[in-house]
Amino acid sequence: MIFRKIMTSIFVMFMCFGSAFSQESGLVAIDIADMKKNLRFLASDELQGRSLGTEVDGLNIAADYLAKNASLIGLKPGAPGYFQQVELVAVKPDSQDFVELKEASGKSLFHSVSVIDLSGMVETHQQTDVPVLMAGFGENLSDLDLKEKVIVVAQGNAEDFVKSSFRWNNRLERAKIDSLSAKNPKAILIVMNPNDKDEKVFKQISAWFNRERYSLVHTGKEEIPVLIVLPEMADELLGGKGKYKNYLAKVARNSASVIEPENRTLTLRTGKVSRLLETKNIIGVVEGSDPVLKDECVVFMAHYDHLGVNDEGEVYNGADDNGSGTVAIMEVAEAFASLKEKPKRSIVFLWVTGEELGMLGSGFYSEHPIFPMEKTVVCFNLDMVGRVYEERDTVWNRSLKKVKDFDGLFTLSNDAWPGLEEINRQICKELNLVPDTTLPPAFLRSSDHYNFLKNGVPVMNYATGYHADYHKVGDEVEKINFEKMKRVAELCFRMGIEIANLGKMERKPVDQ
Ligand SMILES: [Zn+2]
Repeated sequence: MIFRKIMTSIFVMFMCFGSAFSQESGLVAIDIADMKKNLRFLASDELQGRSLGTEVDGLNIAADYLAKNASLIGLKPGAPGYFQQVELVAVKPDSQDFVELKEASGKSLFHSVSVIDLSGMVETHQQTDVPVLMAGFGENLSDLDLKEKVIVVAQGNAEDFVKSSFRWNNRLERAKIDSLSAKNPKAILIVMNPNDKDEKVFKQISAWFNRERYSLVHTGKEEIPVLIVLPEMADELLGGKGKYKNYLAKVARNSASVIEPENRTLTLRTGKVSRLLETKNIIGVVEGSDPVLKDECVVFMAHYDHLGVNDEGEVYNGADDNGSGTVAIMEVAEAFASLKEKPKRSIVFLWVTGEELGMLGSGFYSEHPIFPMEKTVVCFNLDMVGRVYEERDTVWNRSLKKVKDFDGLFTLSNDAWPGLEEINRQICKELNLVPDTTLPPAFLRSSDHYNFLKNGVPVMNYATGYHADYHKVGDEVEKINFEKMKRVAELCFRMGIEIANLGKMERKPVDQ
């Protein structure tokens, strides 16, 4: 009996030792020398800022490098040759857009080419002689029938108008466009604030939208044209100069709302010049060891693209943004790949493209995941994890996300799995890291994790924060703190082991 007990405890000890040992073998794979070598290459001038449209195709050179590394360390390809092809469309207005206001007789009252097409529509689109409905700031329209009409609404809200503020609030306008689009109008017109006499805001938005913009290719998706127009059009619609401002003042006082001008129609046209482009996500997998749980996965993600080259020919090397996250998960991948005994769930390593163009690579992956989103138990996103606070970073002290000291780390999660934050707290404690959870919820939309969160996946974003070189050419390898990056990679590895081996997972549906 005693002998047996001793044997059992030796066996138990051996098991513990075995598992600690196997974790240890993973941890030693996280190596500063590797991180330096990889980052010096990825953030070198040779790669031209890892963006589309540079002279040397640095973005694809980076993709090849990541795929080669994935193969070298023994990850299983998550797509043929580790490459998930991402199709993008680059669009630019064709400068023939216009809006025209007419009388029923056909007489033209107002014609303007000063319009901005906000929709992502690629095809040329024309609407001719459509009845108009004008509806204040686009609020409280639940019982209105907008079908077969052009809906005209004011930029901003009543509160801002009364304060004579005419700033552009993108989130507000997007929400407005979404709720109006649901009512299926022929087109949506947003009229600029008449208080902006010099058209300052209009000019800013116009400069932004006249650039080439990128989006994912969605064939067959019906969209509604959304145009921004100047206040003169609304004046004409209401019968003369100054009428639009008076109307908005009345709307703000609740003494006016919807107007349906008789004997007026709108004709409008939008068109784009477009071209198709291909870029790549890189996906590698460490398959889980449990016959059932291996169908679930933990994702580690980092965007590997950056901003390219500026007009002066200077390269944005993006060592921190996001060479650091890219290189850190290369080490996490190596750590998992080197384990003799793999964790129960599978681990997916995902290097995504096009984050700087609007989180396009992660958006594409979320629509074409290699494990279903319901089976993705957590997505860890690393975006800028290579810096430690320095004196000169005081420029960012006013920011909510100023760069952290050597022990500090921004950790941001959503509500889909309330237990996740506690596990993070525990493991951070063991590694002497101090998690900072004070970032406001807006940061849940600030990087690629948003595309997972939208699909109900619990997410955890790690970042060391903004610094003086954020989105500047000074974001160079020399300023990276590799010791700190190593700690972040170790945290990822430990979190991955813990979560990939957990029993049942809780997950609650959340409104995003
Ligand atoms: Zn970034």
